[in-house]
Amino acid sequence: MLEAHGYAAGEARARLAPFKFQRRDALAHDVVLELLYCGICHSDLHYVNNDWGFTRFPVVPGHEIVGRVVATGKEVGKFKLGELAAIGCLVDSCRQCAPCQAGEEQFCVERPTATYNAVERGSSRPTFGGYSNNYVVDQRFALKVSPTLDPAAAAPLLCAGITTYSPLRHWKVGPGQKVGVVGLGGLGHVAIKIARAMGAHTVAFTTSPSKFEDAQRLGAHEVVLSTNANQMRRQAGSFDFMLDTVSAPHDVNALVTMLKRDCTLAMIGMPAEPFAVSAMGLAAGRRRIASSMIGGLRETQEMLDFCAANDIAADIELIAIRQINEAFLRLQRNDVKYRFVIDLASLRE
Ligand code: NAP
Ligand code: ZN
Ligand code: ZN
Repeated sequence: MLEAHGYAAGEARARLAPFKFQRRDALAHDVVLELLYCGICHSDLHYVNNDWGFTRFPVVPGHEIVGRVVATGKEVGKFKLGELAAIGCLVDSCRQCAPCQAGEEQFCVERPTATYNAVERGSSRPTFGGYSNNYVVDQRFALKVSPTLDPAAAAPLLCAGITTYSPLRHWKVGPGQKVGVVGLGGLGHVAIKIARAMGAHTVAFTTSPSKFEDAQRLGAHEVVLSTNANQMRRQAGSFDFMLDTVSAPHDVNALVTMLKRDCTLAMIGMPAEPFAVSAMGLAAGRRRIASSMIGGLRETQEMLDFCAANDIAADIELIAIRQINEAFLRLQRNDVKYRFVIDLASLRE
């Protein structure tokens, strides 16, 4: 067994505190990473708060991970010692079912193994995430990060990047289209950069007037204050695609009215409570509400390569692990520009 240590929450809404645990010894196809950086996704906060009701405590969150390869199993050919490698939300899947065969492991019919809050396949060992010093993962679930990207700013791409890239690709966003990105947080600010790089006319929807200038700097052609009825009315019926990244309950019907006929609002934020949807708003224009969940390994690598080619990474606030509880409080009250990333060297202090 490999000794590991990190920060865990012992029960719902508890403060995170130092925690020791073990990871498996590297198998033939495994790489062992010394972790360098881990982003703080709002999903980490949902898990610690047990917002979705299925958190297994103690939980070590973290699925936006960049590390360095420090050991390899004897069958590993994909990575060399010392190379950068990344881990996102998935660390295993059945590899046999139709979604797995199609490279969409996130939809594995046996359920994919999540980076934390899951149980390793064929064992009873829990998975613990990236707020920790190391990780043992099958090379197939480890990704290549271009050395041209700042590794700390690249870490959030492993969830925020792929979760927004995948629906933008799926709904074929590109030149000549008008795309709305709702919520300027970790996911939303990366979505603006990616949608812009894909060539779409990109419009940011925010509840925070203080984010207007940033939205433009990040690449938005227009910014809409979603709480302002006049600004909303001016945009109604004009969007080819809307991507809603908001982490809390809000009025989705107002967003549906932004769509053109036959167009889609993808709801990728995951508040604990269900939404109230007006059939009337959907019917008027045969509009659709859909969703999407992270992305498979092939597409995650494609996204990392796209981001490297377009010089896209997150705007981050780098913190030491001892600041984790303060960071969670700030994330809860929407006070981060635009992603916290933990410098895991601070775990060794
Ligand atoms: P985040 O950084 O906290 O950003 C959420 C943004 O939503 C905020 O910056 C804010 O933007 C807006 N917002 C917050 N409270 C609001 C409210 N009451 N009304 C309207 N807008 C509000 O969170 P994140 O890390 O980007 O994650 C966003 C959501 O996506 C979370 O629910 C997370 O669990 C989910 N998620 C889903 C997937 C998936 O696979 N589908 C993957 C990862 C994360 P403004 O200040 O601009 O309004
Ligand atoms: Zn996430
Ligand atoms: Zn499968």
